[in-house]
Amino acid sequence: MSAECIFCKILNKELPATVVEESDDIIVIEDIAPKAPLHYLVIPKKHIYNVSKLEEEDAHLMGKMMLMAKKIAQKLPDPKAFGLIINNGAEAGQSVFHLHAHLVSGKKMTDL
Ligand code: AMP
Repeated sequence: MSAECIFCKILNKELPATVVEESDDIIVIEDIAPKAPLHYLVIPKKHIYNVSKLEEEDAHLMGKMMLMAKKIAQKLPDPKAFGLIINNGAEAGQSVFHLHAHLVSGKKMTDL
């Protein structure tokens, strides 16, 4: 937990969010400013700053994050068509420094 972190505050119920799915380790919420018709954030409950700060011990958790993304994707109107994006570092567009994957669908993210 990090006292200043928006996602930790959501996990602590100090800030509201629309929760799509939750497990012991992972929460999935709707992005507050969606960039695609469907835009979810897949967030490990453990406060990890970003991919650059991952440790060997996080390997299993990262696998669970991918499987959670798969589970959410299976409920999409087109379960085969989605993007998973992780921004790492402010220069790459990361604005919340608690690791998360954007799960986007309903729009071609053609710039990648
Ligand atoms: P990034 O810029 O990759 O760090 O992604 C952070 C994402 O968090 C952005 O898409 C924001 O719209 C989203 N976001 C910021 N605050 C909230 C919030 N309170 N609830 C849901 N999503 C949020």
